[in-house]
Amino acid sequence: MFVLQIAKHSAESCPMYEHKYKSMAVKWYEKVEEQAAKHKVKVLGIWNDHSGHAVYAIYEAPDMDAYMHFQMEPECMAPLAFNKCVHIPVFSAAETLAMLKR
Ligand SMILES: [Zn+2]
Repeated sequence: MFVLQIAKHSAESCPMYEHKYKSMAVKWYEKVEEQAAKHKVKVLGIWNDHSGHAVYAIYEAPDMDAYMHFQMEPECMAPLAFNKCVHIPVFSAAETLAMLKR
């Protein structure tokens, strides 16, 4: 399964400018793939909308249980200090096309 994570923060709490959140963000970027792999979750991509203060990440997980355990790792929980996150199960275009052709 695929999960889209959207993490948003305010301009005032942006880790690019707010020193107290910078180290949490650096640690997350450095460790996210390693932490994901511990739970058999694959990081497919991470994109930043700097002007919108948002991060978009797509993961492939064996199931929601594995995904949630990955998200409960300390390096994943720390950015919640300055971000609001949503986690949306999504389907790939190939999966959607197969569903449409059934
Ligand atoms: Zn920002």
